[in-house]
Amino acid sequence: MLSIGSSTQGASERYIQSFGCSWLRHIMDIGIAKGYQALDGVIFSAGTCDSLQNVSDIWRKVFSEQWAYNLTFPVLTDTKAAVEYLQNEFETLVQKISEKFPDNPHGFTITDSIKLYNRKRINLQKLLSLVSERRFRYSDFFKLALLGDILPIETINPYLSIKIEQVESSSQLTIPDSPRLLLSGGMFDSFRLFEEIPEFDQIVTDDLSFGARNFKFSIPQSGFLQGYAQAYLERIPDPTAFDMEKRWKGLEEAIRHHNIEGVILLGMKFCDPDSFEFVSIQNNLKDLDIPYLTLETSPDLSNIQQIQTRLSAYIEMLS
Ligand code: SF4
Repeated sequence: MLSIGSSTQGASERYIQSFGCSWLRHIMDIGIAKGYQALDGVIFSAGTCDSLQNVSDIWRKVFSEQWAYNLTFPVLTDTKAAVEYLQNEFETLVQKISEKFPDNPHGFTITDSIKLYNRKRINLQKLLSLVSERRFRYSDFFKLALLGDILPIETINPYLSIKIEQVESSSQLTIPDSPRLLLSGGMFDSFRLFEEIPEFDQIVTDDLSFGARNFKFSIPQSGFLQGYAQAYLERIPDPTAFDMEKRWKGLEEAIRHHNIEGVILLGMKFCDPDSFEFVSIQNNLKDLDIPYLTLETSPDLSNIQQIQTRLSAYIEMLS
């Protein structure tokens, strides 16, 4: 992970709108401090939240050597028109990528890629089920889930398979089975929080954008882009989709399936989609009589001590 010095922290202030969230500021600060030379380009998801709206224009200005593209997602997720729209967006993106990067360094066909990424999704699902059985730490799982998005697919897949074999052949961990916690939220990706606060290993499953929501679906091998659009829109939506009914259905199912005793709602500072949905989720959790803890942080984890104190008190209350 890149760390940024205090002299460059806040360097993004002059580029980002006042309502920009802490996550967006953080990735801009890192880019200004260290550059993103390792990346050939960046694809932004437009039509999701206010912070990300039109960031690609700012990105082009700040990192002028880098290719930046806006992929617009439909607001509604459960209509035929939404699937057609997203399929069309994907087709345009594929065309733009092949124009911009005509070489295919890995030599993968689209069918190869679907197989490899579906394999990764299955491996991550398996690892998460081992977390629920208390055989693998949530903090280790989350780190691997993030690595799965960074390392080349041909590297991460064998690694995940070996890890699963190792965990399956070892005995259970010494983590107490109660309380069983679910972690819900949006674009949280600072895994150091889970490494530094051992109480987070009480988590048995999650509902984060870079966690379980990122791999709990698979893409059909035929009709690739149409199938991808459909699978993507049918999955449990991110907070940015503002589809509370579908979102809560997925959460409720996870609560029952994993015998959840408590829910942690983890939001990113100044993230409106997180704040909006937490109110509905909290009301639904009250109806189910599930105690919850709402935490808010930023990518630099400046309030980590406070989080540790509040989490310890919450777990003590549940025990
Ligand atoms: S969803 Fe939230 S954390 Fe993600 S970019 Fe938008 S405001 Fe920031």
